[in-house]
Amino acid sequence: MNVFAVPGLPEVRPGDDLAALVEARADLRDDDVLLVASTVVSKAEGRRADLEEFPAGPRAKELAERLEAISGEQKDPRFAQAVLEESTEIIMEAPFLLTATKFGHVGVNAGIDRSNVGDGGADLLLLPERPSESADRIRENLESDPAVVVTDTSGRPFRHGQRGVAIGWSGIPASRDWRGETDRDGHELEVTVEAVVDELAAAANLVTGEGDDGLPVAVVRDWEFGNHEGSDNLYRDVDGDFVRQALRGWEFA
Ligand code: GDP
Ligand code: MN
Ligand code: MN
Ligand code: MN
Repeated sequence: MNVFAVPGLPEVRPGDDLAALVEARADLRDDDVLLVASTVVSKAEGRRADLEEFPAGPRAKELAERLEAISGEQKDPRFAQAVLEESTEIIMEAPFLLTATKFGHVGVNAGIDRSNVGDGGADLLLLPERPSESADRIRENLESDPAVVVTDTSGRPFRHGQRGVAIGWSGIPASRDWRGETDRDGHELEVTVEAVVDELAAAANLVTGEGDDGLPVAVVRDWEFGNHEGSDNLYRDVDGDFVRQALRGWEFA
């Protein structure tokens, strides 16, 4: 398998056709996986926003005051308001805002970015509204027919460090289901459902970088999903998400 970044992409602007920008710089194959950083999907979809678009309500003010008291740093209540408006649930409100976005991803600050926002002076970059639909659209606009994955960089509980995760996908199942297959000793696998789109996103992040690299798109070539069942369940239902349920009852001291 090969992983490479697509070179020479410009600063992405609202309305840009990402498919055309990529195909002008890479010969894609139908069995490739194209991984696109959510940052540029958001830019193309006009998801840049200014703080003044989010006048803070009482709840946002309360959240910002609490975060300010804990961190000793100034917190803009309008930012908390933006997080609230992007979210369906605040899972943790201190010492940071951990929320579920409308499309199911759980992340700090609803994935709202304040880096690589782009020139033109916007304050914030919101995640794409429905990233799997974004991936569908990019695929439809391509001449070739690779799978498309929209990625973001995300932290995780239990471990330090961030890595790439998939937040939307098209033309590939999210997971490879090993259940019912056997290990080397003939034991049947009972629980392993491999989140391949996250693994691909992590590989892409290795070559796209996080800073001023200017490489928002990567291609994974000569990798095969193989002969396995697939599923699209990446985001846990709240009912089956016991960590999330436990966090709901937890209070930061
Ligand atoms: P995220 O992981 O989706 O939040 O995206 P990042 O902000 O980490 O950016 C991923 C990569 O894309 C980095 O190499 C950035 O320098 C690059 N990047 C971000 N925006 C643009 C853009 O508009 N044009 C180009 N060419 N690169 C960009
Ligand atoms: Mn991001
Ligand atoms: Mn990143
Ligand atoms: Mn193992």
